[in-house]
Amino acid sequence: MDMMEKLEILTASAKYDVACTSSGASRSGQSGSLGNAVSMGICHSFAADGRCISLLKVLMTNGCIYDCAYCVNRKSNPTRRAAFTPEEIANLTMQFYRRNYIEGLFLSSGIMRSPDYTTEQLIAALELLRNVYNFRGYIHVKAIPGADDVLLSRLGLLADRMSVNIELPSQESLNRLAPDKSKQSILKPMGLIKSKITENSSDLVKYKHAPRFAPAGQSTQMIVGATPDTDYQILNLTEGLYKKYGLKRIFYSAYTPVVEDSLLPALDTKPPLLREHRLYQADWLLRFYGFEAKELLDEAAPNFNPLLDPKCSWAINHREQFPVEINRAPYETLLRVPGIGVRSAQRILKARKAGSLDFYALKKLGVVLKRAQFFITCKGKPLEGLKVGEHTLLRSLMSGQELAKFQLPEVEQLSFFDDSYMAALPEASTAATFGKGV
Ligand code: SF4
Repeated sequence: MDMMEKLEILTASAKYDVACTSSGASRSGQSGSLGNAVSMGICHSFAADGRCISLLKVLMTNGCIYDCAYCVNRKSNPTRRAAFTPEEIANLTMQFYRRNYIEGLFLSSGIMRSPDYTTEQLIAALELLRNVYNFRGYIHVKAIPGADDVLLSRLGLLADRMSVNIELPSQESLNRLAPDKSKQSILKPMGLIKSKITENSSDLVKYKHAPRFAPAGQSTQMIVGATPDTDYQILNLTEGLYKKYGLKRIFYSAYTPVVEDSLLPALDTKPPLLREHRLYQADWLLRFYGFEAKELLDEAAPNFNPLLDPKCSWAINHREQFPVEINRAPYETLLRVPGIGVRSAQRILKARKAGSLDFYALKKLGVVLKRAQFFITCKGKPLEGLKVGEHTLLRSLMSGQELAKFQLPEVEQLSFFDDSYMAALPEASTAATFGKGV
């Protein structure tokens, strides 16, 4: 099989892994070496289907001894197989880099023979790149669950970022769809990577030139929609992973049916992209807005509202916490107001030092008043002439795209909600919230 054929098979097999969008490593070019990495994230872009296409994203092999039901590379799937040698991977990366096609490498693999053997092959490819070709560009490599700690430790010294895919949110789902894997076998390497990164940061304080272990940290990927797991389960797991393992990012991948299996959604099922989007929004709230998973969802309402983003849903479910007085509210409270983001909250704090703010000033500071107006006061007063009704509120909180999908009447109705709207909302977001008026 020639290189082009292999490349075609092994890049196509890698495209379902989404955990590759950012870098976070900063390393400048050096004489005698080739490449650099930028902390803003290696130049990344997205294909029409939303997947990252920036790095040379390739598998070492798509042959696998495991049989995960959701995976196109599972051993029981009759697909064309191919494998690169470490030399071929290193060569290909250098050729692509020199031609300016890529700025780094995302290398994963099916499990050949054993997790240890596979990891040894990954190490061989990365050693060639780093030590023979002096490649200093960004490398993201998959850590193979079940591989020996010593091997994973060597791998981490060659890569910028490592990731171990958790794939499914619960042990029950893993048992059903990935019987060769266990939650423990996935969490163990995550724990090892975390402790190696911590160890490495104290080494770097003592020895400036100590080799760096996965300087861009670790990430993981979760498949959404292949199993009945709820958003609540996924978000709780997300929160735990960020706290316990210090992950830099968790990527959510809307399940795209690629294989027929009675345990999985039918082949003509559309990937739940909106659900994936809501999870990314909620993930952002956990990382930068001080929210906890249990504030956004619970067992009674375990899935996100398809029509409103998680922050707006939270706000209309917690009307008792509003309105917020812009001239007095602490930073953490400002962040919870729909229409106020991290930057506008910071600007408000700064501007307040010079004097009281009114609605005009807020607009100039970047606050999205269309959303925020229902939840704030300035100098004790709401926006002059603000008319509050169910449809006005919803139209203001929904994005253009959401509105297009769900046409609300232009004119304010005197009656309560349309049945169609009520049907689309999760139960916990309806009577308890909108019925109160604003
Ligand atoms: S171990 Fe990875 S490559 Fe192998 S079947 Fe499972 S998901 Fe696919």
